[in-house]
Amino acid sequence: MNTDVDVAVVGAGLAGIGLGARLRRAGRTGFKILERADDVGGTWRDNVYPGVACDIPSALYSYSFLPQPAWSRVFAPGAEIHQYVRDVARSEGLAPHLRFGTELTGARWNENEAAWHLTTSRGPLTSRVLVTAVGRLSEPRVPEIPGLGTFPGRVFHSVRWDRDLPAGLRVGVVGTGASAVQLVPEVARRAASVVVLQRTPPWVLPRGDRAYAPGEAQPDRAALAEEADRLFDARVAGTAAEAALRERAEAHLRAQVPDPALRAVLTPDYAVGCKRALFSDDWYPTLQQPHVTLEPSAPVAVEGSVLVAASGARYEVDVLVLATGFETTRPPFAHLVTGRGGQTLAEHWADGMTSHASTVVHGFPNLFVLDGPNAGLGHHSALEVIEAQVGYVLGALDHLDADGGPLEVSAEAEAAYTREVDRRAAGTVWLRGGCRSWYVDERSGRLTLLWPGRAAEYRERFAVFDPTPFAPDDCAVGAPRR
Ligand SMILES: Cc1cc2nc3c(=O)[nH]c(=O)nc-3n(C[C@H](O)[C@H](O)[C@H](O)COP(=O)(O)OP(=O)(O)OC[C@H]3O[C@@H](n4cnc5c(N)ncnc54)[C@H](O)[C@@H]3O)c2cc1C
Repeated sequence: MNTDVDVAVVGAGLAGIGLGARLRRAGRTGFKILERADDVGGTWRDNVYPGVACDIPSALYSYSFLPQPAWSRVFAPGAEIHQYVRDVARSEGLAPHLRFGTELTGARWNENEAAWHLTTSRGPLTSRVLVTAVGRLSEPRVPEIPGLGTFPGRVFHSVRWDRDLPAGLRVGVVGTGASAVQLVPEVARRAASVVVLQRTPPWVLPRGDRAYAPGEAQPDRAALAEEADRLFDARVAGTAAEAALRERAEAHLRAQVPDPALRAVLTPDYAVGCKRALFSDDWYPTLQQPHVTLEPSAPVAVEGSVLVAASGARYEVDVLVLATGFETTRPPFAHLVTGRGGQTLAEHWADGMTSHASTVVHGFPNLFVLDGPNAGLGHHSALEVIEAQVGYVLGALDHLDADGGPLEVSAEAEAAYTREVDRRAAGTVWLRGGCRSWYVDERSGRLTLLWPGRAAEYRERFAVFDPTPFAPDDCAVGAPRR
């Protein structure tokens, strides 16, 4: 059947824009990128808290086919990355393909038409292929703290930063993850006082950020990528690499925190990397400033303007910042997508996200999920996997053109991939490191967010589309495969 567009891409972050660029370069023009916001950039458009920056070297944080030749710092500030995404969208001619202010509200596979029927905030749309590029760190997770709704001052999640925040306030920060470690040192520069509520301490490694001198050559991307990828070895539990990484983190803590009592409070009881390892040279020094308090327990209530911690300590604050992370293992978009036989992705993923190649899902023909199940990297740039996924989608489109389709991965292929992921994850710090993290689905205890291997291996296996694991299109969901 004739659809409104050949490919509907949902999301204009790095993944959606990277795919758009490659589609254009391949001469494909029948696509639209639907974005609920009014600009491209995703993560880097939305996170504008003070200190926001990437935490892997900037040189790795651009597409290999569109390198940014002049990052200003070793770890680029968020605004610079946002500008990079904008520049890509402009230089690759994506303007006619972008539909801003257009939120996907539903997508249903129509078997008779072999097409996706989308509903959006701006009306319906049909497409042959649907690609979700909605991100995995885009839906803020807000903790349920009794009384939070009655807090009289400003309260916001780190991804909804209040740009008009005046100086000289008493600020409470809930959380000690990647965003908190970046924003607390900056907030402390302007606040009258800061209290940081820590449920679990993070492991923090030295960062070594600095500005590049004018004209200074950027580091060699390929060499840096190879070096970064070797860090996967430190995520395998019980290895010498893991022990060496722990020694680096402990040395950083010892060097920056002389007081043994404070050091004890800041020492995690789990393996480095089990939760995301953080990079900062000013986190520990900030916590030791006289106007900054580290509260080593989680908030249990808000009473008026008083934040009550599990320890019983009470802190009066003017502003409450929730640096509490994102909905990761149960992505909200999964409720919107209904595949063959009327099953939603959320139902298919009732025990945690699964896929083949981290990109395709049985029962969901002509659907490609970017940056979804087991597509993240705990040790390297997210773009390493996203770029390979983009190549996979391009190959699948060529196959569809030649073969007609639709393309639906077999249940066996998905099960085999899931078994492989589970087997490989079993030996990693993500499952053996003794922590609770957003990488692991609490319903099944499975590692569902990360690819449990080196990025180079993922690229070698999946950057080129292989049609072998795709089933004939006449099989019912759950029916035995031929
Ligand atoms: C603060 C922060 C720092 C990070 N630092 C790093 C780092 O240093 N290195 C690294 O590798 N990764 C980092 N990440 C992870 C980062 O999210 C990824 O690297 C990358 O930006 C993901 O791109 P994306 O396009 O997949 O998703 P996103 O950037 O999240 O983009 C998704 C887009 O989809 C849109 N969207 C969502 N739902 C809908 C809908 N229903 N309809 C229409 N549009 C929709 C959103 O508005 C958004 O624009 C960081 C994340 C955060 C939050």
